[in-house]
Amino acid sequence: MLRSHKIVLVSHCVLNQNSVVYPLARTSGPFKAIAQMLMDHDFGIVQLSCPEILMYGMDRLPMTKSEYDTPDYKSLCTELAKRDFELVRRFRDGNIRVAGIVGIDQSPSCSQIEDEGHFMTALKQFEELSNLPRIDIPESYAVGSKTADDFHERFIIWLSHL
Ligand code: SF4
Repeated sequence: MLRSHKIVLVSHCVLNQNSVVYPLARTSGPFKAIAQMLMDHDFGIVQLSCPEILMYGMDRLPMTKSEYDTPDYKSLCTELAKRDFELVRRFRDGNIRVAGIVGIDQSPSCSQIEDEGHFMTALKQFEELSNLPRIDIPESYAVGSKTADDFHERFIIWLSHL
């Protein structure tokens, strides 16, 4: 009875900024305010795979979406999306609802809304994930900034509709 039966999928680096390409980390670890809001609303938080780190490791250089547009990278995204979806499917079979996805704006892999990244395209191939409510953390989001404050307001509204 203690379960909320609802989860939100988040891009890996929402909970672990150590994974982003140097020097683009925007905080030391998780985006704490975002994680806290998810917890305050009783969502289980499912951390999606990080395809960039699995492809090129921690020493990778910043790359554009078209530079990532290779058969090898897209095939890795498809593989990881399958694995992540398998987890989602198990939750669904256990009556746990996937309520939404939090991505990263302007990421070549994990942007959802403006210019969809390769990994999000791969995830959307699964019908169950294709029409979920989505929100992207803005590119200029930085802890303590006005953008962060504005985004937090928007995020709470988004969460309250899930
Ligand atoms: S691939 Fe996605 S999860 Fe990994 S660092 Fe880039 S935006 Fe974050």
